[in-house]
Amino acid sequence: MFEGKLEELKNGFKQLPGIGEKTAERLAFYLISQDKQIGLNLAELIHDSITSIQKCEQCNMLSEKSPCQFCSDDERDVASLCVVEKSQDVYLIEETGVYNGKYFVLGNLISPLDGIGPAHINFPKLQETIEKNSIKEIILALNPSSAGETTMSFLTSKLQGPQIKITRLATGLPVGGDIEYTSSKTLASAMTHRNEL
Ligand SMILES: [Zn+2]
Repeated sequence: MFEGKLEELKNGFKQLPGIGEKTAERLAFYLISQDKQIGLNLAELIHDSITSIQKCEQCNMLSEKSPCQFCSDDERDVASLCVVEKSQDVYLIEETGVYNGKYFVLGNLISPLDGIGPAHINFPKLQETIEKNSIKEIILALNPSSAGETTMSFLTSKLQGPQIKITRLATGLPVGGDIEYTSSKTLASAMTHRNEL
């Protein structure tokens, strides 16, 4: 139905997660037919965000500053490290208000079937962070999915030592679930009642 630039714009939207054919058509048509300033402002905002946000050199979190707001916060407990899959997970845990340590973003979960191995989870940097900061507790705040479980087993086997307590989020999180879709209250409880590994 669409052609030329409109078709290209629609296909651009279709590359985004959760956007199907119909929604992509609606968004593309909306941007060119309504107040054009809305689309132009949005285009500029997308460009600015993508070019100004980078990964924190210490924790891999997406941030405008490196080190990020969490790594540069001296009030935080440096002996405690919460390991998460994605930058968004840091904000989810912050919202619970029950944690005041540092973070580390893996960027991926180990999933051999998808060709994602230990080399894809920033492991050398994680090890370096743990050694440099004399970490006493590592909290594995990962999804209880099969990739999450594989990653937790790998990290536990590699990082276990007499000086380090490794914990994971308490069950109560749905098996095969996703912490992105868990209520803040459930996540707060899982953080508070985390299990030692
Ligand atoms: Zn950081």
